[in-house]
Amino acid sequence: MTVAVLALQGAFAEHEKILSKLGADSFEIRQKKDLDRSFDRLIIPGGESTVQGKLLRELDLFDGIKSRIEGGMPVYGTCAGLILLAKSISNDSAQHLQTMSIVANRNAYGRQLGSFHTEAQFEGIGEIPMTFIRAPYIDKVYDDVQVLSEVDGKIVAARQKNQLVTAFHPELDGDTRVHEYFLNM
Ligand code: GLN
Repeated sequence: MTVAVLALQGAFAEHEKILSKLGADSFEIRQKKDLDRSFDRLIIPGGESTVQGKLLRELDLFDGIKSRIEGGMPVYGTCAGLILLAKSISNDSAQHLQTMSIVANRNAYGRQLGSFHTEAQFEGIGEIPMTFIRAPYIDKVYDDVQVLSEVDGKIVAARQKNQLVTAFHPELDGDTRVHEYFLNM
């Protein structure tokens, strides 16, 4: 199994570390020719969704990635990655890949005091550590989106067929279980 990791900006190296711990091959997508390589899965990391969204377009990666996701390739978006996959953003007019039937709320916990750590239930896994950094949460899900985790009544993880998103960063906690879940999708 080969997992491509979008490496334009943000916390991509941490995902690669977890993948290698799990014995999965990975490589970085930095430019258009990287999409010519064969891969089974894609991770869109945390960082700044505005910057990543802009680079996806400028580097002409946008259509190739969107069509692979629409074609059913499993994708996992953490934090900014969740925002990039969302159909819409309730507090921002930006629109990115828009492949997943969720409404994201950007910087939902506030900009300054928005980073925190907790533990909560994740459907199908159990209790896991969760680190939130200027994180979004999901205001609304529709169509066939399954809610996988809620913290204080806010949706922080969800899945729609081949698409998985978490508002938190399991790659920063050294916990491999969410990545294992993704590799089994
Ligand atoms: N606040 C960032 C954004 O809006 C997301 C933060 C993160 O990915 N840790 O894109």
